[in-house]
Amino acid sequence: MAKYDPRSRSAEDFINDEEIRETLDYAAAHARDVPLIESLLEKARPRLLGNGCHCAGLTHREASVLLACEVPELNEKIFQLAREIKLAYYGNRIVLFAPLYLSNYCVNGCTYCPYHARNKHIARKKLTQEEVRREVIALQDMGHKRLAIEAGEDPRMNPIEYILESIQTIYSIKHKNGAIRRVNVNIAATTVEEYRMLKDAGIGTYILFQETYDKKSYLELHPTGPKHDYDYHTEAMDRAMDGGIDDVGLGVLFGLEKYRYEFAGLLMHAEHLEAVHGVGPHTISVPRLKRADDIDPDQFDNGIDDDTFAKIIACIRIAVPYTGMIISTRENEAVRGRALELGISQISGGSRTSVGGYDEEVRPHDSEQFDVSDQRSLDEVVRWLMQLDHIPSFCTACYREGRTGDRFMSLCKSGQILNCCHPNALMTLAEYLVDYASPATAEVGWPLIERELGRIPNERTRSLAAEHVADIRASNRRDFRF
Ligand code: SAM
Repeated sequence: MAKYDPRSRSAEDFINDEEIRETLDYAAAHARDVPLIESLLEKARPRLLGNGCHCAGLTHREASVLLACEVPELNEKIFQLAREIKLAYYGNRIVLFAPLYLSNYCVNGCTYCPYHARNKHIARKKLTQEEVRREVIALQDMGHKRLAIEAGEDPRMNPIEYILESIQTIYSIKHKNGAIRRVNVNIAATTVEEYRMLKDAGIGTYILFQETYDKKSYLELHPTGPKHDYDYHTEAMDRAMDGGIDDVGLGVLFGLEKYRYEFAGLLMHAEHLEAVHGVGPHTISVPRLKRADDIDPDQFDNGIDDDTFAKIIACIRIAVPYTGMIISTRENEAVRGRALELGISQISGGSRTSVGGYDEEVRPHDSEQFDVSDQRSLDEVVRWLMQLDHIPSFCTACYREGRTGDRFMSLCKSGQILNCCHPNALMTLAEYLVDYASPATAEVGWPLIERELGRIPNERTRSLAAEHVADIRASNRRDFRF
């Protein structure tokens, strides 16, 4: 029988079923253990360290106790701590991105996804390079600088060469003042060689959702196709890192299995990456199962309500304080607003989940992956963020300056974020306001930039950032970064 070992390269050792079940029993037994929960909150709280700030994080077992906590006053403290950690590391900046669906051809049989091979009803589409170009121009005209490309798994229709060619096309398009400066990739698990090719193509984060960490369920939810192989899928991030990709993004699809099991599995996966590769995941996504073409989420038994969802986000924030967290337009405005406070650092905006959707006047439904709950335009999302006192950021500087993997984490820990991420966020927001914003959004944005420039601690950086913002307003000079 497999034994729990975070250093092992074998899926059943680092996502060990017995360890997860013991963790859940332990957490349930301590759900009202006030001294233990208080001590965990104390351990996880941010501490000043030199110029910076340090958070110890929590293990999967400790964090599972917080997730199980049934004491209302302590639950309030959990939410409060998550807010503090979010502000300590990520401040009030929120990075924006959009998904770009390249192809929905797929040979897998995932029972929750409308792209599954037996679905003869959904329109199958694969973008040509000319169509990729049109989509990217439409995205640039919205103001996007960062994309996540998405594709079904089909070695014949969507081979790696197609993905690479599409990435090259995306980076090559310079339309007006626009540019896509970071392409993240969400495609099926693959080989070390293909991950190396993605790395060489200049991708940002490689994202792959585990869907569920429960192997038995996984095998039932993925009955056919290459994705059926649980171990190959679960070990994908190790191969990606072996292929040189420093930044990887984890996630589970909440609603498929019991959320406490998934939560423990997710954190064990993060601990495994840290133990083996010396750096944890760059991001964690928290998608929830949604209605889609021939998919009815009510057919799955493990849906979670909004309060539980918020608590999961808060507990992830506390457990892995340096990991970015992503929420998509699967969630509506109210859920996203609450999630931002509790730990989310990246959101998508103005998304279309159909293949070729951005180039259409009206949002098409025929090839959609899931129903979009937040249907606001990017401009509306940007304005909304600023009205809630967040700074919308289109920054892509870190990976372009080589600050990936543990180098990014060091920046997080060094206290230099206000001298680096903050001015970068403000300069990219200024670009957005000049080039793409509606007058109503610009009216909210400029005073915010003015005010936030004053928060940059280093005098020289502050005055340089102010000069660059003035330059952006007065000329076509773009892409300043620290
Ligand atoms: N084909 C790739 C793979 O196998 O990982 C990845 C891309 S898929 C386009 C992106 C993600 O959408 C999936 O990993 C899954 O978690 C999510 N997804 C699939 N069906 C969904 C649904 N009905 N509601 C919400 N999210 C869904």
